[in-house]
Amino acid sequence: MKYLLGIDQGTTQTTAVIVDERGEMIEKNSAQLPARFPQAGWVEQEPADIVRTVREACAPLLDKYEIAAVGFDNQGETFVVWDAETGEAVTPAIVWQDTRGQSICDSLAASASSPLSANPDLLRQKTGLLLDSYFSAPKLKWVFENHPDIRRKAHAGKLKFGTTETWVIWSLTQGKLHVTDPSTASRTLLFDMNKFEWDEDLLKLFDVPRSMLPQVKPSAGYIGDVDFVGQGSALPLHALLVDQQAALFGQACFNAGEMKCSFGTGSFLLMNIGGKPQLSNNGLLTTVGWNFNNHTAYAFDGGIFVTGSAVQWLRDNLKFIPDSAASHNAANRSTDSGVVVVPALQGLAAPHWRTDVQGAMFGLNRSTTSDDIVRATLDGIACRVYEVVTAMSQDAGAPPPYLKVDGGPSSNPYLMQMIADLLELEVQVSAALEATAIGIANLAGVSALGTTFDALAANWKAEKIYTPKMKKEERGKKLEQWNKALDAVKKFHEEEEKK
Ligand code: ADP
Repeated sequence: MKYLLGIDQGTTQTTAVIVDERGEMIEKNSAQLPARFPQAGWVEQEPADIVRTVREACAPLLDKYEIAAVGFDNQGETFVVWDAETGEAVTPAIVWQDTRGQSICDSLAASASSPLSANPDLLRQKTGLLLDSYFSAPKLKWVFENHPDIRRKAHAGKLKFGTTETWVIWSLTQGKLHVTDPSTASRTLLFDMNKFEWDEDLLKLFDVPRSMLPQVKPSAGYIGDVDFVGQGSALPLHALLVDQQAALFGQACFNAGEMKCSFGTGSFLLMNIGGKPQLSNNGLLTTVGWNFNNHTAYAFDGGIFVTGSAVQWLRDNLKFIPDSAASHNAANRSTDSGVVVVPALQGLAAPHWRTDVQGAMFGLNRSTTSDDIVRATLDGIACRVYEVVTAMSQDAGAPPPYLKVDGGPSSNPYLMQMIADLLELEVQVSAALEATAIGIANLAGVSALGTTFDALAANWKAEKIYTPKMKKEERGKKLEQWNKALDAVKKFHEEEEKK
């Protein structure tokens, strides 16, 4: 039996899994990755910690199995800059949640001399993204503006840039491999998603020298040998993707129209839109799903930053439930469906993109209980998922055939049933708990073992399927209440802004 190693270098932890030839997970091991918050809006990780967690996650697995190939996914926009000679990091890992690049975005948007004033759609057309500090390039420009020595060295060709997989692979190969893939490159704001190459105009816009950027390799294919544990036994690396794209692959969403939602602290929805890029008219991003040989998938991308964390807020701040799973029973105990909670605890991301909006509750009365508020919060999360799926369906011209889900909150029956009811779609909970790590391992299998997409799709299993059962009138009323509440909250914050 041949085995595959999938490494999911995620934001809060690195998880390594061993997967067999059919794509079944045999064993997994994780290492927690700490973050620090040195100032409001700043989120950093220690570059050495990222390498350490990869080693720790892999170490106990490698002796036991004969590994044919490795796949490695990453956090997406998080990046490190390091010295090309010594390998010493000269910046912390600046995490995707970090907002320090916002001032750069504001001044680029306002500057009359910026190429964006001549063509405000330049970024969207080339990258599918928005000018937002979520992505790597505005924060890299922030580093250059605030650390002239780093800028000088970068322009003298002495520094290297990399997202987390690029940094780890460079470190573990002592600089032999400086590589990334099109899905990850497509999250930097420096990469042309139509041509699959770094873009000269964008490099100029963000003042980034080409010499510091990694080589963009196909998402699947032999890349090189990497010693993941430092024991002198290098393994062949065959696949690279962003974690959300790896989850899309792990959920076997291989056909245009298929989509997945990974639930955790936030929820990240990707819809496969096929081999041609399409821009959204409904506030979504376009991103590269994967690109290798004759396989290209683009995807619509919609992030909801607060979903599981709203349940955490009910638990830890309001103390309404003892643990997150208890939100299911609390919601079922509630007898009042008149309460509406807009869980905009960190603004409203896709498809609204309103950072000013905050959360709100409507419909409280003397007999309102904590259970009613728990229920309304879960309903609010379901309404946010409904909004993003609806926006994607409008752009795609048709709804998806079903919604595949994974992550902690996907084990909440009340929440998943509500999502199925609002979407009028089947919600299929993946039987595989580690859809992301399994996805990247399976992509390595496609390259190294010749595994077919058909075999992976046939092997995908649902643990549970929720079918819509809510009455039309009830659904209509819920969505109407939600839309009214949302309009009121937006208006409230617009009025506040004017003051
Ligand atoms: P991560 O986001 O770190 O990958 P998980 O996928 O386990 O981790 O999701 C954790 C988040 O999901 C927490 O915010 C938690 O409150 C929430 N959560 C976990 N289980 C449930 C559940 N059964 N119902 C509702 N929310 C849950």
